[in-house]
Amino acid sequence: MICAKCQQGIKSGEEYDTITVHSASAAGATIYRHFVCQPKPRRS
Ligand SMILES: [Zn+2]
Repeated sequence: MICAKCQQGIKSGEEYDTITVHSASAAGATIYRHFVCQPKPRRS
């Protein structure tokens, strides 16, 4: 699963939201979002 907000993978054990999006062209897509997105790891 990929978080729709931060585009990072949602690991098992992390809390996430499930949202179903309805559109005219698709039957409905389910997207996932972290409850709390983690900042991207960055090297300094
Ligand atoms: Zn996220």
